[in-house]
Amino acid sequence: MQKIEFFKHNIDEEDISRVTSVLKSIFLTNANVTKEFEEKFATYLDATHCVAVSSCTAALHLSLLALGIKDGDEVITTPMSFVATSNAILHAGAIPVFVDIEESTGNIDFTLIEAAITPKTKAIMPVHLYGNMCDMKAIKKIANKHKLKIIEDAAHCIEGERDGVRVGELGDVACFSFYATKNITSGEGGAITTNNDEVAKLLYQLRLHGINKDASSRYTDKFAHWDMKVLGWKYNISDIQSALLIGQLEKIEDRLSKREEIARYYEVALNKLGVEYIKVPENTKSARHLFIIKIKNRDKVVSKLQSNGIGVAVNYRAIHILNYYKNSFSFQDSDFPIAKKFGDEVLSLPLYTKLELSQLAYIISNLAKI
Ligand SMILES: *Cc1c(COP(=O)(O)O)cnc(C)c1O
Repeated sequence: MQKIEFFKHNIDEEDISRVTSVLKSIFLTNANVTKEFEEKFATYLDATHCVAVSSCTAALHLSLLALGIKDGDEVITTPMSFVATSNAILHAGAIPVFVDIEESTGNIDFTLIEAAITPKTKAIMPVHLYGNMCDMKAIKKIANKHKLKIIEDAAHCIEGERDGVRVGELGDVACFSFYATKNITSGEGGAITTNNDEVAKLLYQLRLHGINKDASSRYTDKFAHWDMKVLGWKYNISDIQSALLIGQLEKIEDRLSKREEIARYYEVALNKLGVEYIKVPENTKSARHLFIIKIKNRDKVVSKLQSNGIGVAVNYRAIHILNYYKNSFSFQDSDFPIAKKFGDEVLSLPLYTKLELSQLAYIISNLAKI
């Protein structure tokens, strides 16, 4: 029996030596290395600003605050995501309003958005699930018509593009995750990109208590009093984490090609087996974050694969069937039937650069047996 992890990071010696030099420097937290990462990340995404923070959850929360979303406002989002998406809306005091998803991609069904808009609606929070972007041109049209903000949850989709549109290009902000299993990782971490100068300025303050000076300049510049004008949070990232990200960002496209190859291997093999999987939509460059098959008796298949040494995951069961959401909003399973069914059938196969051909063959032969 082989043992195949669900995920393995690809931190190399160069990344480790970058971290070592931060550890040997004076200032461990948010300073020059974070600035360097922010500049490089913004450049990679063709964005004007990047604000690095402690997680994507923090990024989503601060984005809502910076865009003026307040208590009781409604934010339209998808029930097919990690709970961080809708939890961040709750953290901001707002109400997540779910609309159902497209069966083919699992992304929010933009044709259902307008019917969910009320006078309280202030924003749309689409999630680019598994690395495949939502139809941002269609979502932008709706947002313009109803004067709504767009916050892109791009935790799965740093590298993505669709219809010539990059992630973050049409949204007011885009939020990214550097959690342990994401395409680039610092264990924990996140970032926000935006082309709006005012929003960026506010985000830089909100990530550190709302004060008007960052941590390093408080210590390294000549003494000067700082002030606090708004109530912010303690959401900054550290230079130790940023040091891990810089090298991975440089290699991001090479590593995407490797994951693309693996995904294509799966696609060919699954076509032969007649197993359904999530396909990349037309005119889309997928970030290939997760490879998803759809299968009946999913939980049985999960335990069979696991007992044969293959790490798998479920991304995700629909959010509206989780107890907290069910109880708080009196949701029925049937309220978002496509998301419910989708969440009962999806299974994530291993997808990372260190996967070897013999491991892929083992995974496929086990699926074939099942
Ligand atoms: C991982 C993830 C998040 C949360 O990211 P953190 O950095 O762990 O806060 C948010 N949304 C989606 C879709 C995710 O997969």
